[in-house]
Amino acid sequence: MKNFVPNFFILIKEISKKINNLFFHNICNICGKPNENFICENCQKRIKKFEKYKIINSKTLERQILNFYQTKSYDEFQSNYNSKIYFNNLFYCFEYKGLIRKLLLKYKFSGASYFCHFFANVILNNKKINEILKFYDIMIPVPMDKIKKLKRGYNQTELIANIIKKEKKLTVKADAIKKIKPTKTQSKLNFFERQENIREAFFIENKEAIKNKNIVLFDDIYTTGATVNEISKILKQVGAKKILVLVIAKD
Ligand SMILES: [Zn+2]
Repeated sequence: MKNFVPNFFILIKEISKKINNLFFHNICNICGKPNENFICENCQKRIKKFEKYKIINSKTLERQILNFYQTKSYDEFQSNYNSKIYFNNLFYCFEYKGLIRKLLLKYKFSGASYFCHFFANVILNNKKINEILKFYDIMIPVPMDKIKKLKRGYNQTELIANIIKKEKKLTVKADAIKKIKPTKTQSKLNFFERQENIREAFFIENKEAIKNKNIVLFDDIYTTGATVNEISKILKQVGAKKILVLVIAKD
């Protein structure tokens, strides 16, 4: 019953959008009002508020984690938690808040796979990220385990990466890494529990394809970074040169 009430309202909202679609042909995919574009001007303005297009290096991220957990020194942090950031930089397009959070959750969990074009364009239309991507050879979307992907019907990061692949010279290797261990949903775990949960969950299929390459590891949402960090660790172990974690939104 607890989950039924919000789902019921989502359903009514979706049905009313469909009815609108019958009469007006094109509607905004966020507010549902008649509109020629995928997203209306008003909703585009609402999205703009969360834009960041920011790059952070791993040292800054490490400092942020230290501050958050109030650990005295990095050495202590490493020895206590066996923790280190393995990727070189993080680039994020939005803050994971408000409307952006709502859209990403809808894209990920409510079957709204058609939002992949919108999110791919967020990356493709940004000058800053296009300049950075020139220095990279391969893009790898964060994999899902087989059962989860079957249940959802799609891997949300793979859909976006495949659109980017068509527009860019970047090679997309969606099958370079396999998720070999089913893991608990990360959202209810803290940083260290997430790290433990995700440990040894991935396997590199083609090590030669990774060696000496600059890699873009692509994910939708960055929260503690435990998943992308675990993948970065094994990528570096097989000789990846530089790793950029690219995400749509950062928490
Ligand atoms: Zn709208």
